[in-house]
Amino acid sequence: MAKISRLPDTVANKISAGEVVQRPASVVKELLENAIDAGASRITVMIKDAGKELIRIIDNGTGMNREDALLCVERFATSKISGVDDLDTLMSLGFRGEALASISSVSHFELKTRQASSSFALKFRYEGGVLAEESEVSGEEGTSISVRNLFYNVPARRKFLKSNATEFRHIFESVRSLALAYADIEWRMYNDDEELFHFRNPDIRERLNYYYGSDFSEGLISITEENDYLSIHGFIGKPGMLKRHKADQLFYINRRIIQNRMLSQALQQAYGELLEDRQAPFAMLFLGIDPSRVDVNVHPAKLEVKFEDERSVRNMFYPVVKRAVQLHDFSPDASFVP
Ligand code: ADP
Ligand code: MG
Repeated sequence: MAKISRLPDTVANKISAGEVVQRPASVVKELLENAIDAGASRITVMIKDAGKELIRIIDNGTGMNREDALLCVERFATSKISGVDDLDTLMSLGFRGEALASISSVSHFELKTRQASSSFALKFRYEGGVLAEESEVSGEEGTSISVRNLFYNVPARRKFLKSNATEFRHIFESVRSLALAYADIEWRMYNDDEELFHFRNPDIRERLNYYYGSDFSEGLISITEENDYLSIHGFIGKPGMLKRHKADQLFYINRRIIQNRMLSQALQQAYGELLEDRQAPFAMLFLGIDPSRVDVNVHPAKLEVKFEDERSVRNMFYPVVKRAVQLHDFSPDASFVP
């Protein structure tokens, strides 16, 4: 008798959910990426009990028809790529077709969606990945996804969630890094029914001022550099206005928020001795590169990327930042190198 049996999808989804959905913040990030990919110009985030009770993301994007709405929670079902080659030209944030399958298998999941061409919205309710209810309801154009009781059926995972303060900090960081960067989108965030922010102004400097305080942007150096290989746009803090938290360095590759040690180190080195012990400069930098020169498929959470040629990226990035810093170093012993 054969000993091997193929796991049912509901089991496979639950297992791989561990990699995609580590905590409430990962759910928030995946749902926001979907809303952005759907072309939303308005996104609302509602959180209750640090995401343990409710995560709801409402967007005014394209919505889905019934067929797609049923498919979107299936494993490896995506509208964003149809073959591996598509990764070479990828501009969307999603591509793995795993997020909704994973999230819906470990929560009470509700999807409400309406396309412009439809006069009503479709609502689907899933429990642990199993369809429990489908109905036609009234609703706005776009998509609203509610995730309740995350990990209710994975007690080990639920038990390892940290305090509400910690989980909420991670959620807030996910929302903030996208809401500051996607300035063409109107963002609103509520925590336990209290409005935390409402970003409306499409100017990134204004958004930074709203977030950090009214004259924050006066302490910024603006960077705009471009060659055939790489473009670098964004802001770094003037040497006199250094921040202490590493978390205040936001790097984006092709508008995807990423963590990259080479970029953080190069930034740190560009400030060199201007930094005191444990100081880290503020940075919000958007790098643009041909998608074929960067691998975004390094990890299911899509936070890491691998450059095809890390040295070329560094060789452009470092001098650009260094020059910008030197031009704004007004300390008495600064050696001015134009
Ligand atoms: P991926 O984003 O990698 O394609 P997901 O599991 O996150 O995988 O989503 C599956 C599919 O469901 C997407 O490719 C998209 O077609 C659709 N979808 C998900 N969220 C939305 C949304 N907010 N609006 C419109 N379509 C969506
Ligand atoms: Mg996605």
